Amino acid sequence: MALVFIIRQNYYGNAEEILEREAQSAANSYDRYPANSLQKNAKILLENTIRDVDAQVQVINSEGIVLADSELDELVGQKLNLPDVENSLKDKTMSKWIGKVSSTDEPIISVSYPLKSGNEVIGVLRLVSTLSRVNNEIFKIVLFFAVISFVVLSIVLVLGYFLSSTITGPVKEITVAAEKMARGELDVRVPKRYDDEVGKLAVTLNYMAKEIADHQKTKDDLIASISHELRTPLTSIKGWAATLNSGSFTDINEIREGLGIIENETDRLAFLANELLDYTKLSTKNVSIGLDIVDVGEFLCEIRNQMNPRAQRHSIDLKLELEDDLAFIKADRNRLKQVMINILDNSLKYTQEGGFIKISSQSQRDEILISIEDSGIGIPEEDLPRIKEKYYKVSTSFSGNGLGLSICDEIISLHNGRLEISSIYGEGTRVDIYLPITQRSNL
Ligand code: ADP
Repeated sequence: MALVFIIRQNYYGNAEEILEREAQSAANSYDRYPANSLQKNAKILLENTIRDVDAQVQVINSEGIVLADSELDELVGQKLNLPDVENSLKDKTMSKWIGKVSSTDEPIISVSYPLKSGNEVIGVLRLVSTLSRVNNEIFKIVLFFAVISFVVLSIVLVLGYFLSSTITGPVKEITVAAEKMARGELDVRVPKRYDDEVGKLAVTLNYMAKEIADHQKTKDDLIASISHELRTPLTSIKGWAATLNSGSFTDINEIREGLGIIENETDRLAFLANELLDYTKLSTKNVSIGLDIVDVGEFLCEIRNQMNPRAQRHSIDLKLELEDDLAFIKADRNRLKQVMINILDNSLKYTQEGGFIKISSQSQRDEILISIEDSGIGIPEEDLPRIKEKYYKVSTSFSGNGLGLSICDEIISLHNGRLEISSIYGEGTRVDIYLPITQRSNL
């Protein structure tokens, strides 16, 4: 409505302004007419005015009687009671009127301008213009806006319906599924309806549920595996304690043997507890890595010398092949030693008598590579991708909790290095450790 009002004001204002300007200029030119009566000049004034003006022109005398009319001759001689004419005669100024012609109901705008002879108002010049054309224009504009509004409204409605069915529906589905997941139903999956943000949310939620389920399974496996690991030493400790307690021993050597086993088994339990603790610390990155300068060649010699007696006991050839002039690295010497011993421990565990284990090292551009190769039982291909995962183990016939390699992996990544395992089942296993070389100037 406000729009209609503004447009109308604008259009009417324009029409009015044009009429006013024309009426003023025509009426003012009357000064230059011969000093005859208005009655005599009326015809010429009319003719002169209609040449410049696009409107109905009337010349009316001071009594309100029409002297000349450009369109309706029958009005000549009649007295018209028109508000704008009366006001103009009375106030001696221009006066305008907007209304409808009583006979035809046509909307018009009229402007009356006083005609002066000297200081005396002797009549008015009246210009009349129809408003039906303007009204028509206004109607067209309003109609145009109405159609546009209707189209926009329809688009909004359709879009709203479409959005609500593509967003609200799937979001509801996701909410229901999320609630189920929160209650522990982790096998629930949300269908992905559309390839949009909500679809991505569904995929992410499914992924989250799968991760939680996997996590829970690993935890259950761990508890089972730890219980299993605990049972063996505990059974033997309990057995020996009971036997010793029965007091029927006379041989001091037998008592020593029993106590020795109890001591060893207790060590095993302590080791297990330490390993668990260590892994928790490492995986939460809650550990600081000391940076020692490590001469890789000298370090690997030391490791070999430490492990050789065990290898000899198992008749395994523990070889060491080093490149000359190996680089220095910055690393936590004790942690690195822990990694080497862990890997060599595995190799010793899974290599048969008469086999070999080879430690080698070489510099490769800005990295140093340390490899531990063995001729052991190898790792089945299907287990290889998961071998570094925590608690993952291939064979249950060997002791171990599946933490060793994941601890090694964590330690090496804390050193910004990589640990890679390759293996051929039945032939042997190779562990490659890549560590960044520290420039001599930074040592
Ligand atoms: P664990 O402490 O149980 O040995 P690891 O993480 O060190 O755990 O090793 C995980 C699994 O990888 C082991 O259970 C074993 O089956 C396999 N594995 C590791 N090293 C070797 C190797 N050198 N030869 C054959 N199998 C290996």
